[in-house]
Amino acid sequence: MSRTVRTRIAPSPTGDPHVGTAYAALFNYAFAHTHGGQFILRIEDTDRTRSNQASEAMIFEALHWLGLTWDEGPDVGGPCGPYRQSERSEIYREHVKRLINAGHAYPCFCSKERLDKVRARQQAEGSTTVGYDGHCRAMAPADAALRRGEPHVVRLAMPREGQIVVKDLLRGEIAFEAAGIDDQVLLKSDGFPTYHLANVVDDHLMEISHVIRAEEWLSSLPKHVQLYRAFGWEPPVFCHLPLLRNADRSKISKRKNPVSLNYYRRAGYLPEALLNYLALMGWAMPDEREEFSLEEFARLLELERITLGGPIFDLEKLSWLNGKYIRGLTVVQLLERLRAGLLGDDYLLQVLPLIQERIETLEDFLDYGRFFFVGDVAYDDQALKKLVPKGRTPQDTAKVLKTLLDEHLDPLLDWQPERLESILRSFCEAAGWSPNELFMSVRVAVTGRAASPPLFDTMAVLGKEVCRRRIRRAAGALKSIK
Ligand code: GLU
Repeated sequence: MSRTVRTRIAPSPTGDPHVGTAYAALFNYAFAHTHGGQFILRIEDTDRTRSNQASEAMIFEALHWLGLTWDEGPDVGGPCGPYRQSERSEIYREHVKRLINAGHAYPCFCSKERLDKVRARQQAEGSTTVGYDGHCRAMAPADAALRRGEPHVVRLAMPREGQIVVKDLLRGEIAFEAAGIDDQVLLKSDGFPTYHLANVVDDHLMEISHVIRAEEWLSSLPKHVQLYRAFGWEPPVFCHLPLLRNADRSKISKRKNPVSLNYYRRAGYLPEALLNYLALMGWAMPDEREEFSLEEFARLLELERITLGGPIFDLEKLSWLNGKYIRGLTVVQLLERLRAGLLGDDYLLQVLPLIQERIETLEDFLDYGRFFFVGDVAYDDQALKKLVPKGRTPQDTAKVLKTLLDEHLDPLLDWQPERLESILRSFCEAAGWSPNELFMSVRVAVTGRAASPPLFDTMAVLGKEVCRRRIRRAAGALKSIK
């Protein structure tokens, strides 16, 4: 191999840390280690409205938990920093200027109204190419320069005809018809770059030799390859990993599988078991062994041997493997794992103040506090009745709980009692439920009991993953009641 191997992951901090990020990180980490290279963490936070500090912190934390350490990144620094795209705006602007000067990019002043009209016309005509019609591409540079003060974006001038041939390590050459590809926006009207521009510029400047990422980015590859050409840069090797799938073969999604790494951590999966399982997604050891360590994987990984079958992320198989890892620990190690999580002082010190007032003997602790330690709580008939406020139907309640979860709790990253309270209170108004009705229903859903410690403190200590899982389950149980 001629270049030093440098790989990276480039997550966008827009939500809970995703299992797909761990999957890509694992292969990038291992490949860099196989070749004595470097593994880099870059934060792609150019989407100003969706990027979030809490999400970034959770990505670091989850990757640390998994033991996938990086050689360069926003927190550890390195020679190619800054490693957070929001701190690199000037670099992108300079690069866009270069492209404009060389005729590979152009400012576009079209208003949203005009773009909507173009799209509507294309759709009405049944046109196969739906996208920007190139209106501003024809503008003379001198005219464009006169309008510099007006709001505008900058677009990449894609070739109009012929094919763009890209090369993926696992798929070989793939030809895309140039006519079907839009003149991609590179710089938005707020002066921030789009993913495509920032990603390519950074991969080049950070001297990334191999881009190993999820299959969903394959369709962006012709735009990226065109950008490399326009800059006159040598592209890295591209390797798009197979998509992780739910059991029904659809793309992995939170409706069918937990996708947050926080879920797996809270539920007590061992990081080494999760990594082992993720390594099996598209990869098999030369001797077909299913159990192996990160260190072994990082010694033996060959990208060319990854298979594209669409691996199924099967929770049952992961749990089975996790059980094997648990049995492989000594009892003392097992105790240490429990103490690092559910039975650790950190967690117990959050739980105890909520229980102290309500117990009379120490052994009451186990009885009363059970719901703080188990995964799912059981809803007996009594509890199910309390889940549904008087005068409401189980179906209504299920719907309300589901809306609360999907639209209000799921996007919440700052899982604190005050935030939870204000969200639940304003949701009451929107749903037309009284606080008494909603709070009781949520209380029973997350604790399995009609009487519990203060609801919002309890939810905060239980954490988002546990609350989410129990509310979803309660809504499911209610839906099946006739
Ligand atoms: N920011 C992209 C993401 O969130 C990075 C994709 C890539 O690796 O190029 O996945």
